[in-house]
Amino acid sequence: MKPGITTLLLMVTFLFAPPGLADKGPAIKDYPAVQVADNVHVIHGPLGTPSPENQGFMNNPAFVITDDGIVVIDPGASVQAGEMLLRVIKKSSDKPVIAVFNTHIHGDHWLGNQAIRAGYPDVPIYGHPNMIALIEAGEGQAWVERMERLTDGKTAGTIVTRPDKAVDHGDSFSHGGLTFKVHHYGKAHTTSDLMIEIPERSIVFLGDNVLNDRIPRIDDGDIQGNIEACTHIMETGSHVYVPGHGPTGDAAVPETFRRYLDILYVTVKQYYDEGLSDFEMKDQVAEQLAAYTAWSGFDEQLGRHISLAYLQIEEADF
Ligand SMILES: [Zn+2]
Repeated sequence: MKPGITTLLLMVTFLFAPPGLADKGPAIKDYPAVQVADNVHVIHGPLGTPSPENQGFMNNPAFVITDDGIVVIDPGASVQAGEMLLRVIKKSSDKPVIAVFNTHIHGDHWLGNQAIRAGYPDVPIYGHPNMIALIEAGEGQAWVERMERLTDGKTAGTIVTRPDKAVDHGDSFSHGGLTFKVHHYGKAHTTSDLMIEIPERSIVFLGDNVLNDRIPRIDDGDIQGNIEACTHIMETGSHVYVPGHGPTGDAAVPETFRRYLDILYVTVKQYYDEGLSDFEMKDQVAEQLAAYTAWSGFDEQLGRHISLAYLQIEEADF
């Protein structure tokens, strides 16, 4: 049978579609948003690492409804995650998105920028200068490819949309009667971490400087620096803390995570001083961190965290 005109048209459309568009990955189902403070909402993504099942969506995108419009923090891992966030926002407010903050370079937090930009072409996207520099050096594209690989192509169609406004420690923005105060304390989870405080709501968005119920990768970070970042942010005396992954809570959230890093570092240091190598001390360190064994990723990350602590203790020793 000869192909009909419709079939031919479809073939032509397919052949000339921009790359990536024809095989865009499927939409992500709408997740519920929880109001964690007055007009502050968080979608708590599932725990775990990017997979075909979660379609790469596993962070905590947040939106703040101000008098002037919506401020978004970390719109997720893909164009699909950003589109889902916009749909969820619409259920609470018809106001436009007026600003986006990205907490750090890891793509599970910011690749959704693309969807926000598509809906709001002039929206400023704030990020740390080190994040912008890393993306310009190719790290953003590496994250696009990593996400597609880990999700079996579910994030396909995502393209790098980087922050266009560099912000750093001490910067402060006023949006619709609320202050968005930027905190950065040097190398912690990464070299590019921002924590965003809204003093009027006594709330802080911690990025991955703090996780709850999940153990992070710290391959790009510094354990002592991360401990210090936790200490500094708790000094704000805020009442509500939104981690990069896992449930929102009070000051116990950063406190509990800092304790994990503290115990890790102190225990590795103790056995390092006794002359043990990193792989010889794993059981003893695991025992000291028994309170965290149920956290997602504990078994996968423990060995890496011990090696990292060991390396950083060794470096501090010279
Ligand atoms: Zn991260």
